[in-house]
Parts: sequence; C-alpha cells; structure tokens
Amino acid sequence: MKLLIHGGFFSESSQSIETKLVKQQAMSQIIRDAYVYLKEHTAKQTVVYAVKLLEDNPLFNAGIGSQIQRDGIIRMSASLMDGKTKKFSGVINIQQIKNPIEVVSCLQEVDDRVLGGEGANTFAQHIGTESYSTEIPQRRKEYEEKLAATGIGTVGCVAIDAHGNLAAATSTGGKGFEIPGRISDSATVAGNYANGECAVSCTGVGEDIVSGALAAKIVTRVTDGIEIKSAFEKSFLELEEFDGFAGAIGIDKNGAMYWQESHPQIVFAAYDGLELTVFQ
Ligand code: ASP
Repeated sequence: MKLLIHGGFFSESSQSIETKLVKQQAMSQIIRDAYVYLKEHTAKQTVVYAVKLLEDNPLFNAGIGSQIQRDGIIRMSASLMDGKTKKFSGVINIQQIKNPIEVVSCLQEVDDRVLGGEGANTFAQHIGTESYSTEIPQRRKEYEEKLAATGIGTVGCVAIDAHGNLAAATSTGGKGFEIPGRISDSATVAGNYANGECAVSCTGVGEDIVSGALAAKIVTRVTDGIEIKSAFEKSFLELEEFDGFAGAIGIDKNGAMYWQESHPQIVFAAYDGLELTVFQ
C-alpha cells in the first residue's frame, strides 16, 4: 500500500516561507490520515478521501480556497479514474459546492460520467449536495488585484491498495482569472488517468497538460513496458518542445512512485507507511 498526493505548484511571488511550512505540515497530516484510511479501503475510495481533505483545506486551490474566474465566479473541476474498472468520471466548471470530488465519485455509478456547467450543478443538487461558497477572502483579494493568475494550485492523489488496485483523483479551482467556460485539464484524461498498470495526477497550466496529453501518455508508456521513471522523463521532455508548464505524480502496479515538474517545484508528499517524503 502506497500513496502520493500533490498540492499543485506554488507561486514563487506570493508564497512566504511561513506559508510553505504550513502547507508542508498540512500535506504531511493529510497523507498520514489518508494512509490510515487506505488500510481499510480501496485505492479508489482512498484517492477520493485524500482529495476531499485537500479540498477542505483553504491553503490549496481546490474546493475551499479555489481561484476566482475573470467574471468573479468560482468554477471548479475534478475527476476520478479507477484503474480496476477503467472508469473515468469528472465534473467541469461546477459551482457552489464544497467537494467536487464527491460528486465525481457518485458519477462513477451512472452512464453519463463527465458533466459540465449547469448539468454538473443540477446533478450535484439531485444527489443532495448542499450549496456552499468555496470563496475565501485571500482569493477575492488576489482577484481584485488581478494577481490570481500567479497562484496555480490544484490537488491530486494516486494510490495502490492492499489488493494492488490503482486509482487517481484530481481537483482544481483552475488557473485563476480565466475566461468563463475555459476547461481545465483536471477533468480530462490528460490531467488524471489510471489503469491496472499505473496511475497519474497532474498540475500546472491545463492547456499545456492537454497539449502534452500528459497523464494518459505516461500511463500508456508504462502499460507498454517502459519503467515509470523513463515514462515520466520522456513525456516531460516532449513538454519542453513548447515550454509546457506541468507537474505530475505517479505510481505503478509494483508500487514504484515517481514525480516530476517542468518549472518550479510541485508540492507533493509520498508515503508507504514507513517513509514520509514531503517536497516543495
Ligand atoms: N491544471 C489546473 C488548470 O489548468 C491548474 C493547476 O494545476 O493548478 O486549471
């Protein structure tokens, strides 16, 4: 049993050392809690659990603390892929709920598994999700200062459970200050992908991640027999062709974990029950 989580990229310009330390501590606590949960649950249930904890923490740009779009409204995106059943589900630009990942989890059970905008909002209401504003004063301040674009974040988790099943989940408040209607990578197979061989969750500039088909490409390479480190390196090399800004975490069916970023440092934590690594 192993898992990795990420808390997106830090904005070098707006993060103090203190904030980074607080984020590090939060990541350590969340990955420990998620590991305890993993002992009794599947990889799929655990990645949802971990991402929900990250969404609930206003330090991260997903759920509470999400970025505000150009028109002043928060729209969030999230997705889940169960490596065992190969089912992908996602919500794109959902509004006024606390945990997009929980809606995504419910979508695993229906035929139409990726919903956008109003359809996603209506589905969330239908399953009894309460209306909730995820706006925090700091994001409003950034928005007002038109600085939101510097605060790339997003959260994600990949896990392997006691039965060797893999899963990936990703949730985002977006880039910040984007044109309403813009679709992030986080609820696409470029930003979040898993099968029986490998699971990957990405963060960074969604347009670059989609252009690089990043998560799906890494997972496909591992599936075709390339070891996870080489699969990451080759896929990130291809991002360089267009100066793609991305970071990703991954785990394969043998429990090998890997992570890489193209620009500044991705915030991530890895835990196998013995050794806890927190980097940023
Ligand atoms: N990938 C997300 C997006 O483009 C942002 C992020 O990862 O921080 O919306």
